[in-house]
Amino acid sequence: MNTPNNKVDNPIQHQVYLSLPDGLYSEVPPVRVEQPSLLALNHDLLAHYGLSPEWFESADGIHFLTGNHDYASQHPIAMGYAGHQFGHYSPQLGDGRAHMLGQLKTGDGQFIDVQLKGSGRTPYSRGGDGRATLGAVIREYLISEAMAGLKIPTTRTLAMMSTGDSVMRDYQMVPGAIQVRTATSHIRVGSFQYAYAKLGKSGVQALADFLITQHYPDVDVDGRDSCDNENKYVALFEAICVRQANLIAQWMLVGFIHGVMNTDNMSLVGESIDFGPCAFMDEFKANKVFSSIDRESRYAWDQQANIGYWNLQRLAETFLPLFDDKFDEDSDNAIEMAQAPLSAYITVFQQAFQDGLKQKLGVTASTQDADDFINEALPTVAAESMDFTQFFDALTRVAQGDEDDTPLLSLFSNQEKGEQWIARWHSLRDSSSESVKAMRAANPALIARNHQVEQAIEDAMERDDFALFNRLSQALKNPYSVSDDNRDLQAAPMPEQRVLRTFCGT
Ligand code: AMP
Ligand code: MG
Repeated sequence: MNTPNNKVDNPIQHQVYLSLPDGLYSEVPPVRVEQPSLLALNHDLLAHYGLSPEWFESADGIHFLTGNHDYASQHPIAMGYAGHQFGHYSPQLGDGRAHMLGQLKTGDGQFIDVQLKGSGRTPYSRGGDGRATLGAVIREYLISEAMAGLKIPTTRTLAMMSTGDSVMRDYQMVPGAIQVRTATSHIRVGSFQYAYAKLGKSGVQALADFLITQHYPDVDVDGRDSCDNENKYVALFEAICVRQANLIAQWMLVGFIHGVMNTDNMSLVGESIDFGPCAFMDEFKANKVFSSIDRESRYAWDQQANIGYWNLQRLAETFLPLFDDKFDEDSDNAIEMAQAPLSAYITVFQQAFQDGLKQKLGVTASTQDADDFINEALPTVAAESMDFTQFFDALTRVAQGDEDDTPLLSLFSNQEKGEQWIARWHSLRDSSSESVKAMRAANPALIARNHQVEQAIEDAMERDDFALFNRLSQALKNPYSVSDDNRDLQAAPMPEQRVLRTFCGT
């Protein structure tokens, strides 16, 4: 937006979603706040987009990113979506506290969604106040930065804004904030469920065509040389399945538990999205759950691949009429066409997870002995209640040539068993420099540990102290090496610091 006083223009000048059919979104501006200010600006992300921070730090920028602006020419929208929440279908969810401002154009010509989260009520708010707490925004900021640092596809946090307003949560008034979130797309499985329920086949087709044009141009039969799938919608579905399989494998390989893998929280471009009660595990347990609302352990660490599949089946149900024109008379053929992409999901997940595990262990041989060792590795880590990140970091350091394997050995409860395990690993491991490099790339030294994230939130909310938030957001950018100043961040929680449950804290 050009204003006479501003030297640098607002880079958010597009609104691609306006080309979608009416009914899939509502034009609605963010709601004004009392006293807007900029709490944190992600300079590295701006640099990554090839943008200068000047406008974002200007009064115009701050007002634009908090709801205190005349958006007449901008067309901010809230998007509708449905979703299966913990397995139960909710037909009407949608952006209840989020506004899509539009897209910014990066230095290399890409368009990136810029969405405010916590920016006031919308037609989809139901009973909610449309606001977010500072704690929830800090959590999304740190987890999304950690994900990006781990090179896992993710939505990002461009800025954290203070509203100057308080919001009521659990009978207490707490500081309100807005997350400025960026993403390749905000289309979710739930967006397709919504389009299907509201507009039927034509709505799904419009959304699928939009997704192909914007994010999956390669699946368009007319636009490419070779094509395995005659039907571009089958090809689109398969491409989505493949991205999702890789994403979930990557989450699991760093001990991440999303916590709320409802269909409305699954992005169709394969980015991690909506970090609520998510967590990186400290000590490894395959069926670990943190989320206070996941009472039946539906979204446990080891359930995530199954749930991804289940969600993709829900997506497939909306795609079926596009797979076969005669779907209304006979659905069998369309259902059959969905099978290959769903099978691809399983194959890709298994391969990615297994390859990743081998990379983490630095064992590249394909002998029976090596396979047995790899398959027994995680059960051993679990049986010893070892810290997931510390174990693989210590292993990597030994592979990198640390003479002293005490840190690794000390993670085993029984020294003799530990020595045996390490000796077996040495006999099987690939000591080539490529393998050792690959191990480090797969094994971060730092993760966004629950107790540290919770401490950063408490410091900011209760003492207006952002020192730990700033430290963590810097350190997590490069989680593969630790400076002396940050060595304490590698520590697992003391018993009294352990976080057993995480909350939405919305
Ligand atoms: P989430 O748990 O963040 O994925 O949100 C689930 C649904 O609840 C989405 O439709 C959100 O927009 C909505 N929602 C969450 N918090 C609020 C709030 N404070 N006000 C309005 N809607 C909300
Ligand atoms: Mg959500």
